[in-house]
Amino acid sequence: MARRPRAKTAKSGSPPRDAARDRERLLEYFIKHSDQPIPNEELARLLGPSRTDSWTRRLRELREPRHGGYEIYTKRDMASLRPDEYFFPTQARRQGTREPRISGRVRAEVMLRDAYTCQACGATRADRYSDGRRVTLHVAHNIADSLGGNATLENCFTLCSRCNEAESNVGSDRPQIGKTMAQVRRLPDHEKREIYLFLKKVFDQ
Ligand SMILES: [Zn+2]
Repeated sequence: MARRPRAKTAKSGSPPRDAARDRERLLEYFIKHSDQPIPNEELARLLGPSRTDSWTRRLRELREPRHGGYEIYTKRDMASLRPDEYFFPTQARRQGTREPRISGRVRAEVMLRDAYTCQACGATRADRYSDGRRVTLHVAHNIADSLGGNATLENCFTLCSRCNEAESNVGSDRPQIGKTMAQVRRLPDHEKREIYLFLKKVFDQ
């Protein structure tokens, strides 16, 4: 992904250039792991061995209004967290970041349109990954548009956290209802029934 140069002029006493890059990397990681507990060792590891001390300062800076004013929770804010975990709730993207802003309304409409189903692997929020972790769903922006496209209903889609991490670009490869229905009709009855039960589970939620 191309990095846009920072427009801000450096004043004397401002943090070094590395600080801005470290903040961006932390933020990208938080966004990819929104709505799930993140062990602080993952964050410490993210910036490499030379930054083992500074990552907590970068994290605090992300909470400051001039660096985006992000909400980042600890056990103090959320009793269900462990003392060594952070939590980044889904939040509107702030100005000044490369991430497009996806409004709460678009987010809700996208999830509804996609029937709370990952558009890359088909996992739903009722499913678990093979390691037993619950599937968490995110609304992602079409990566092809991520450097300037609008975060509209058409440009956004639902991804589970695994596929979101892998940055699957599924926007151009949506299943087509006609083709899908034809394939469903050709399935044997017991497989049709599997689809029926799956859909029933989705719509009964
Ligand atoms: Zn998925």
